[in-house]
Amino acid sequence: MCTKVTTEKVYGKATPIPLENNVRLVCVSVDALANILDMDPDVSNREEFVEFVSGRKLPYGALPIAHRYGGHQYGLWAGQLGDGRAHIIGEYVNSRNERWQLQLKGSGPTPYSRMRDGRLVLRAAIREMVVSEACHYLGVPTTRAAAVIVSDEAVVRDMYYSGCPRRESAAVVLRLAKCWFRFGSLEVLSRAGELTVLRQLTDFIIKEHFPDIHLSDENRFIRLFSDIAHRTLDMVAKWQGLGFTHGLLNTDNMSILGITMDYGPFGFVDSYDSGFVANCSDGEGKYALAKQPDVVVWNIGQLANALKPLLTSSQQVHMLHILKTLDTYCKNKILETFLMKIGLKEERWGDEQLVEKLLDMMQQTGADFTATFRQLAELEPSELVSEVKISEKWSLKRLSSHASWGCWLDQYRERLDKEAVDASSVGMFEDERRRRMLSVNPIYVPRNWILHEAIVDAEKDDFGKVQFLLEVIRRPYDINPEAELRGFSAQPPQWAYALKISCST
Ligand code: AMP
Ligand code: MG
Ligand code: MG
Repeated sequence: MCTKVTTEKVYGKATPIPLENNVRLVCVSVDALANILDMDPDVSNREEFVEFVSGRKLPYGALPIAHRYGGHQYGLWAGQLGDGRAHIIGEYVNSRNERWQLQLKGSGPTPYSRMRDGRLVLRAAIREMVVSEACHYLGVPTTRAAAVIVSDEAVVRDMYYSGCPRRESAAVVLRLAKCWFRFGSLEVLSRAGELTVLRQLTDFIIKEHFPDIHLSDENRFIRLFSDIAHRTLDMVAKWQGLGFTHGLLNTDNMSILGITMDYGPFGFVDSYDSGFVANCSDGEGKYALAKQPDVVVWNIGQLANALKPLLTSSQQVHMLHILKTLDTYCKNKILETFLMKIGLKEERWGDEQLVEKLLDMMQQTGADFTATFRQLAELEPSELVSEVKISEKWSLKRLSSHASWGCWLDQYRERLDKEAVDASSVGMFEDERRRRMLSVNPIYVPRNWILHEAIVDAEKDDFGKVQFLLEVIRRPYDINPEAELRGFSAQPPQWAYALKISCST
């Protein structure tokens, strides 16, 4: 895999240090095993599989490596970082002819560990596993996860529940991506003036991952930049539409494929708050929910800086032009996403205000993000009246306490009527609209409180809730009777609103 760019400026050889003590399987993604790795999911019951995920039994001929990258963290250049606790163990070309790089995370120190232990705690492994699979089924481009193992090996971390250091169990997650390059992969080379390698690596990325761009094209770096920028913002629009907050939007966590990666202190907002901060270490709220588009555009600006030395001066001007269009591009994508969420196909005059007003009311009433859109989707046309009578629509009930609710609903109904005029029959239009809305507004997202309960059990060696959660998030748009019994779509318990997620993992 890495024979084309064999340089320690991009990779360092690194051997996993397998977990030793009572190593056992926590969970797998049946889909990732079967459809990405061509494995019979039953294989996960075998000791051999656990040894594989622990890094003890690597595939024949595997040359494990750790990747060198840098990054801007909270807006400041942090210098060289790199995979400090992850090993890329190889690339698998599957039966669909897709190439996937397998990575172990938590598999021991590497040349880039910077005095840290190279380990990952169980709660972080579970969170990454569940959310990457959830995002996949929610239509968010993302890295995948295939399995988590845990051991009795202890690691010490601080600031989870209490602010006190805590002994936790070391775990490993087997992650999958077409590639693991980040904005920071190019930034570190550019910053260090390693321009020959920068050019080699950028060409390598184009060749391997952007087949529509030709290596002979003198504008290939601009095309690459534009492609990455737009893919990345398409992804951000999906985040916003789900109330997903990444939590640690440093440029070392931004994939060059425009996929979500390096899940740590993420969160799906419960009670809607545009200032929602998922990461309790982010005191200033730099990476708050509503700031993500701006932050990501800024990050894309850092990618532009990294590529600059490869461009002629007129190409640099061209790149600046592209950069200037990105705010508007992202804003439009987000609007498109929200229009779909409320069942509108095409933007008309006043739609932006309609969405803004809804979000304002949600913010002011503390209505739940996921449940509000879902419950709006569930409403029958006859129910589109000011008083929400149905008691199960707990989030809409809350929203309808807003003084402007009735007025908004009138406007919304009028707007829907305009769209229905074009349909052959109003009844058919209504059915189709509801179907569309139900297909973009999930009933289940991995809320922090649900993850928390699953993790508490897992830390006592009971993995049932984690496994169940993985089952539920595979069908986030379909009612799951057992999930309903467990309250997954009900109002979160009071304690859920006080949960804090740290980036200490
Ligand atoms: P993250 O916050 O997970 O994106 O990590 C930032 C950087 O620190 C990455 O380069 C990680 O590989 C590295 N890192 C985080 N935790 C550890 C650890 N326990 N051991 C070694 N490196 C780590
Ligand atoms: Mg990271
Ligand atoms: Mg990491």
